[in-house]
Amino acid sequence: MLYKNLGINSKGHMTIGGLDACDLAAEYGTPLYVLDEDVIRSNCRTYLDSMHEEFGADSTPLFASKALSFRGIYPVVESEGLCADVVSPGEIYTALSAGFPAEKMFFHGTNKTDADIEYGVSEGVGYFVVDNLNELAVLDRKAGEHGVRQKILLRLTCGLDPHTLEAISTGKVDSQFGVPIDTGQADDFVRAALECSNLDLAGLHSHCGSQIFESDSFNLQAEILIRYAAHIRDDLGYTVRIINIGGGFGVRYVESDPLPDIPARIAEVAQHMRAACEKYAFKPETVYMEPGRSIVADAGVTLYETGGVKEVKGYRNYVTIDGGMTDNPRYALYKADYTVLNASRADQPADYECTIAGRCCESGDRIAEYINIAKPERGDIIAVLTTGAYNYSMASNYNRVPRPAMIMISAGKARLVVKRESFEDLIRNEL
Ligand SMILES: *Cc1c(COP(=O)(O)O)cnc(C)c1O
Repeated sequence: MLYKNLGINSKGHMTIGGLDACDLAAEYGTPLYVLDEDVIRSNCRTYLDSMHEEFGADSTPLFASKALSFRGIYPVVESEGLCADVVSPGEIYTALSAGFPAEKMFFHGTNKTDADIEYGVSEGVGYFVVDNLNELAVLDRKAGEHGVRQKILLRLTCGLDPHTLEAISTGKVDSQFGVPIDTGQADDFVRAALECSNLDLAGLHSHCGSQIFESDSFNLQAEILIRYAAHIRDDLGYTVRIINIGGGFGVRYVESDPLPDIPARIAEVAQHMRAACEKYAFKPETVYMEPGRSIVADAGVTLYETGGVKEVKGYRNYVTIDGGMTDNPRYALYKADYTVLNASRADQPADYECTIAGRCCESGDRIAEYINIAKPERGDIIAVLTTGAYNYSMASNYNRVPRPAMIMISAGKARLVVKRESFEDLIRNEL
């Protein structure tokens, strides 16, 4: 098994956090998102402990909400001591509704509308991560109207090209995110921020991309941000307090992906940062990181029921499931790899080559192609691993498929945390 919280019981069924996956599917229905809370907490602690150790007691990870935003996640990450990234008023609202403190939120986004900015300021969001000059001007005005001095970070691009998919690479100069250092525009951005009387320029932020396995981009990014902070101090006469190096550590979706060693990677980034701090004689008070995927991805498994097997002679075999791109669009979007297994026959050899197809009227509705699983029959439970991140948060109602339910498992007990959508939910807003 890919992860240590997964196993096989005496019935030959797959287990998640000690519970029989087929029993869970029978009790809660399928498709079903299963989250192992103990794994999420352990991932939070790994980050928090390493960051405290490497960067000092004030430095914390921020949970990137976009990876998995629903009410039940916020008390978990908050109780583990994490802050949170949000990218929309909807994420702010969700987090607030779960009691997550506004001052622990960092508000991202390339295009925050006037209404978004108004909402964030009036709710007391701790930090705005300002993307561009347009946003800066509106935020200064809104902060003034509310009589607050809004803390901000500036989002910069460091000119790095991490080895990851084009669609999830964000740190290049040619990017819709942030303002580039290389072109000299970041200096104008900083000057403009310093002229805003209602804004407190707390620090700098950069995020180079997602699902990155090599450390080079992070190491370089840390160095570039420190060098740039020293440049602001020396040439613009202002000292920032915070350096936020974004998210992006890769997670293991299939056995051929490396098993990431988070503490080792944080230690490596920290070592590069310390070297840069020494070289440029600049030390930030606080360092933040923004992991999303690597906090929740490996805690998630999606369970489906098999509809049947279709063998197209001379071509391939299709296994159809009762979900697909509506609950997990990542294969359709990026041809993302997944590990799939037959949870009903977890003890049998995975020797049946097939393509897992979803239920939508769309030939792109697939979860994996040319993979091997134990040959299923109609009714078998199919498990797709590593679905904790960017599955529920990207789900849609395409073909009027209701979104699945989600359960959380902790200490051998399961509880419902998101109800399955009903047909009434589908037409709720339609007049
Ligand atoms: C997407 C994103 C993250 C999280 O990335 P992961 O790959 O999920 O760790 C963090 N910060 C910002 C600004 C992002 O856009």
